[in-house]
Amino acid sequence: MKFQFSAGGVVFRQAQDFGSGPQSSKKKVEVLVCQHSYHHGWVFPKGLIGDHVEGEKKEETALREVEEETGVKGKIIKLLQPVQYWYFFEGQKIKKTVYYFLMEYVSGDIAKHDEEMEDVEWLPEEEVSKRLTYPADKKVWKEVKQLMANGV
Ligand code: ATP
Repeated sequence: MKFQFSAGGVVFRQAQDFGSGPQSSKKKVEVLVCQHSYHHGWVFPKGLIGDHVEGEKKEETALREVEEETGVKGKIIKLLQPVQYWYFFEGQKIKKTVYYFLMEYVSGDIAKHDEEMEDVEWLPEEEVSKRLTYPADKKVWKEVKQLMANGV
């Protein structure tokens, strides 16, 4: 069995919801999700730690991968509980651990995402759970919702 370690981000931003008039305008939260070009699953952006830059810290990998894969620069708020999954590649079983960070949007544009993602979207928070493909990502999202409910 081979072990891999990746880092990524769950990025949120406040969006203005303009309802039916100025009085009904209220803040709502949007979350960055993307569709992987090879396996087509909807996921949070991430990448292998130390794959591109030797000695890179997981925080640095997470920020770099989010920006490369989605076009968005984030600011780290908090390290989330690591998640794990297994997959097979060229006949070898791989156990991957992913360190996701909760991040707040700083700048950038999803139109500038790279080709590793075939689609990138800002989704209203209530649509995130049903869009995500994998249980590990749904688990991370559950933790984020709890943090947000507690005002983080
Ligand atoms: P990384 O983004 O960490 O560099 P990658 O893009 O090379 O990784 P993964 O996204 O880990 O590759 O996908 C490798 C395999 O694992 C694919 O077959 C994919 O369907 C599957 N996979 C991806 N994410 C998950 C997950 N959260 N749970 C289970 N299987 C997953």
